[in-house]
Amino acid sequence: MHGTAFYSDERTFWHCVGVQALFLSGDWVQPPNGSVGADTPDSKRRLLNLAQASGLMKRLAQPESAPVTIEDLCRIHPRAYIDRFKATSDTGGGDLGQLAPFSKGGFEIAAISAGLVKHAVLDVLSGKFANAYALARPAGHHCLADMPMGFCLLANIPVAIEAARAEVGLKRVAVVDWDVHHGNGTQSIYYNRDDCLTISIHQTHCFPPGYSGAEERGQGQGAGYNLNVPLPAGSGHDSYMYAFETIIIPALEAYRPDLIIVASGLDANAVDPLARMLLHSESFRRLTEMIMETASRLCGGKLVVVHEGGYAESYVPFCGHAVLEGLSGERTDVVDPALDMFRAQQPDQRTLAFHRQLIDEMAAALA
Ligand code: ZN
Repeated sequence: MHGTAFYSDERTFWHCVGVQALFLSGDWVQPPNGSVGADTPDSKRRLLNLAQASGLMKRLAQPESAPVTIEDLCRIHPRAYIDRFKATSDTGGGDLGQLAPFSKGGFEIAAISAGLVKHAVLDVLSGKFANAYALARPAGHHCLADMPMGFCLLANIPVAIEAARAEVGLKRVAVVDWDVHHGNGTQSIYYNRDDCLTISIHQTHCFPPGYSGAEERGQGQGAGYNLNVPLPAGSGHDSYMYAFETIIIPALEAYRPDLIIVASGLDANAVDPLARMLLHSESFRRLTEMIMETASRLCGGKLVVVHEGGYAESYVPFCGHAVLEGLSGERTDVVDPALDMFRAQQPDQRTLAFHRQLIDEMAAALA
């Protein structure tokens, strides 16, 4: 077993959402001059660049991967959606859902992105690497089986999980989604199943619009195997730690997965333009360490971190770099220049007490 593997592909940075102002386009907003909307390649490319500049990348394995196949996609997505996506991609691009635009060739890039996740999962399950990070773009956690949503075109993580079931007999898997937006796609795909525990901690009523969801626990065979932890806007480091200690880690312990996958959006950071939370790079380092410690107790450390959202081009790289340092156990000379400022901006004790009460109430409702 050899350390941490990092999966990326230059072509994923070429995915283009077209001309948007943040995520808006239409009659009443001036198009940006020469730049594109929130989901630019830069937040992710700058993470890659930072890991190269710090020397961290040299200490990670960088294995090859391949795009997912039509057979892989058909385990999750209806053939009609795959065909429509491919045809629209071939003829110039478009938007087949809600806020999920793509340009010509978007289908092939999305298949490469999902392929990074698939190979990360297979290589960790085989024991080739202790753990892995997939720099996926486009992201996947909002994508429904039959409709793309929120910059997500394919359900990267479910496609990878089902490929691993088919190829190496993976059984129980837990997905912990700490992207600041609700992991509604992953939830919907596994809502009736007990072979994947889906957990999403997110800003309440953020995206999809108006969503909260603590009461959604799964149904049928899946009853009890979906867990949402919606936190109020303005939640910070301590509230996230408390929610993990009180709800998320105990849920993983009860489930005893064979593999843990983190849907690692980095958009709960303090300056993200598409959310209102207050995490910083040390928050993401600590969350990574907590999940690693849990994975080592439950499933031999088998852990795959999959990059999801994160739109603060200047700050996502520091959060992702902290995750990578945590995963690999390596420490570089990189200093987060905003850390002191974001630590000083954390909620006061009264607000934190209120958040803890909310989390205690959620935990009580789950018991
Ligand atoms: Zn997000």
